[in-house]
Amino acid sequence: MPCRVCQSETIVKGLLHRCSKKTCDAVYWDKFAVKRLVKENKETSKEASPKWLTALLLEAKVPGFVRGKYYVYTLKLRKNLPKNTSAKRQTKMPNSGNGRFYVGMTGLHPYERYLNHIRGYKASWAAKKMAITMTGFEGPMTREEAEAREPARAQELRKEGYDVHSN
Ligand SMILES: [Zn+2]
Repeated sequence: MPCRVCQSETIVKGLLHRCSKKTCDAVYWDKFAVKRLVKENKETSKEASPKWLTALLLEAKVPGFVRGKYYVYTLKLRKNLPKNTSAKRQTKMPNSGNGRFYVGMTGLHPYERYLNHIRGYKASWAAKKMAITMTGFEGPMTREEAEAREPARAQELRKEGYDVHSN
């Protein structure tokens, strides 16, 4: 499976695909495999770190939680809304046609946060349903820095003509 940003080869660790190109920071989780695991582990779906999730993170060599370190991350979303999207939501999510992004901040490693979006744990609707790939992240930084950087990053992308979602 090629990188979803630059089409280069990806390096696969467990269910995490990372772009092999030095100048590209894109990564993505094998969403179907993650969803299958979520189904098989329904009883722990509301837990912050169930065993199966910890195993996935270890296998993918995602760095563990470090208190006080925050990140701002960017997810590329599908352009088109899922077919069953409510009319109300459609009006809240206009499509300029240039592409969509989700910008968020987190105290977890961004790859772990991305995985939580996919499994539906504290996930925004847009990120859960429409994330294609994480294009990159900034940090670690302090919480205050991340709180300032998150809206600034969203604004940068809007200026470039993209539709940007957060929360
Ligand atoms: Zn790439």
